[in-house]
Amino acid sequence: MKAAARTATGLLHHLKPEESSTPTSNLTQKTILELLNTRCINSVRNLKQAHAIVLRTGHFQDHYVAGTLVKCYFDSGLGGLDMAIKVFDSVHRPNVFVWNVVLKGCLEREKPWMVLSLYYEMVLSDSRANKFTYTTMFKACGEVGAVDEGFQIHGRCLKSGILFDGHMKSSGIQMYASSGYFPEARKLLELGKYDVVCCNAMIDGYMKSGNVKEAKNLFEKTPERNTGTWNTMVTGYAKNGMFEDSRKVFEEMPERDEISWSGMIDGYIQGGYYKEAIEIFDQMQKQKIRPRRFMLSSVLAACANTGALDQGRWIHAYTRKNSIKLDSVLGTAFVDMYAKCGRIDLAWEVFETMKEKEVFSWNAMIGGLAIHGRADEAVELFFKMQRQKLRPNTVTFVNLLNACAHGSLADKAMKILSSMKNLYEVEPETEHYCCVVDALGRAGRLEEAEELIESMPMEPNAAVYGALLGSCRVHGNTELGDKIGQILLDLDPSNSGRYALLSNIYAEAGKWEKASELRKLMKERKVKTDPGISFLELQGRVHEFKTGDTSHPQAEEIFSQLDSVIERIESEGYSPGKTRVLFNVEEEDEKDTSLKYHSEKIAIAFGLISTEKGSSIRIVKNLRICEDCHSAIKLVSTVYEREIVVRDRVRYHHFKNGACSCNDFW
Ligand code: ZN
Ligand code: ZN
Repeated sequence: MKAAARTATGLLHHLKPEESSTPTSNLTQKTILELLNTRCINSVRNLKQAHAIVLRTGHFQDHYVAGTLVKCYFDSGLGGLDMAIKVFDSVHRPNVFVWNVVLKGCLEREKPWMVLSLYYEMVLSDSRANKFTYTTMFKACGEVGAVDEGFQIHGRCLKSGILFDGHMKSSGIQMYASSGYFPEARKLLELGKYDVVCCNAMIDGYMKSGNVKEAKNLFEKTPERNTGTWNTMVTGYAKNGMFEDSRKVFEEMPERDEISWSGMIDGYIQGGYYKEAIEIFDQMQKQKIRPRRFMLSSVLAACANTGALDQGRWIHAYTRKNSIKLDSVLGTAFVDMYAKCGRIDLAWEVFETMKEKEVFSWNAMIGGLAIHGRADEAVELFFKMQRQKLRPNTVTFVNLLNACAHGSLADKAMKILSSMKNLYEVEPETEHYCCVVDALGRAGRLEEAEELIESMPMEPNAAVYGALLGSCRVHGNTELGDKIGQILLDLDPSNSGRYALLSNIYAEAGKWEKASELRKLMKERKVKTDPGISFLELQGRVHEFKTGDTSHPQAEEIFSQLDSVIERIESEGYSPGKTRVLFNVEEEDEKDTSLKYHSEKIAIAFGLISTEKGSSIRIVKNLRICEDCHSAIKLVSTVYEREIVVRDRVRYHHFKNGACSCNDFW
């Protein structure tokens, strides 16, 4: 008792002087509520003290105070949901206010099923539901898809004569629409006057179900469209893959808020339109709109995908300037961006300074080292991670084994694979086998790789065979290549890269007939080739080049530069004819010129004319770099005295003085 009195007096110091002199038993409801609503928001200690005061002063009998206390427990997270429910359970015959607090609290903590079961308790307890109760219930039913329950609740509120207000209507619409009950949703919408919040809910429902036409119709009919309605259209179109329409609405909307910008940016990123996402982000900065933390991580992902180092660095400077905390998510996004933009040194720097690191942060750093071929450091980091008592997960092992494959550590890869289950309790999956097969294959240990595939506890997939096929080619094993290639053409008949690889294996062994048969097969099966795209960032702007692409505003200049580049490297021994007999990897098309105009060559020509003499050129390519481009870029690096860094789908190529860091094996 003494202790309770002490703590209570401690908290009372925070109150106004005249109040702190009042004996605690005389505290008014108003004072207690003020205490709960202001002093207990961010302080668990204050909450415990306030709880003690509420109990001791008898205010817990007051439903308004008791409900507010329950709400404080929900908000504080102290003791999790259980604690809040425990306090709720101790309330004697809770009234509708207290019930609403607990229902809403559970809904906000993503426990919709719990909301449903609590509601039935409420019904049994004879407590009368009100419009707040029904609004929460519609939301809960919508989230779990419990439309039957939703119908019952709808019936109940009609029976009790409660009039639908905007919030109730829109949550009902949301519930019906998200479960596909559009006529019911529409009926609710038509009830009374059209209200903009309800129209938004309805439009959102149509968009989520892919009914873009109805969404658009309603959008046009919506009275007093506010920014929220426009936002629903922007994100709705993007979700349906209609980026042009999304952009059009975005451009046309009279006013944009932060949600409009992030909706447009996220839409582009999810659709893989990274360059466009960065452009919008750039526009947003120009209009001095402050990006929120979660948006920064998604824009960083876009930077990583396009190699937009300058833009990524700008975001880094921005977070420093605005003292934005580098938590584990944002910090990891920086690590990933720097590693993928070729600056493993800066990735290290961020990683070292991060105060909060989660397993995914370590994974990103190990993965970054892997694509840079720095296997020893990746392995070292893996052990350091364990010294910090962090448990590696399945992604950690994929990245680690990948590092071993690219760093010629085949034995190490085998050892790690066999220790995964015993030592770390992580079950090896197909992806892990794939990396080890790759590591063995690269080391020329093709038989062992084949044995490993045969010993796999699961059915090997195309990726595993694919890893071996590349090695068969490099090590000139036509027989095994033939065998694996045939398996692959059955397993993965639409992958153009496999045909290309196998065809090259035949061609190099002089089996021309087989090579051309394969080409025919590819045509018969109508296998599509992926368009090659290269990105180059210049002063914060990302330039995009497709194979044979003449859409760039400086196209004329770029192509004449490219012609002169080819001429110069030809005199140094480059001969496109030499590799011409081979089938050119994924992006070959019908045009004769395709080889000469591969996207990375165009990007390099552009880089040569638009960057300072002697500075390095960085390119990101969506597909694996082809041999012809690889040999051409090696020569460009000597002739023009430039360092050229190309990140392709598989790894980094660092071209310098006529050589590449991958040692011609990728
Ligand atoms: Zn190429
Ligand atoms: Zn290379």
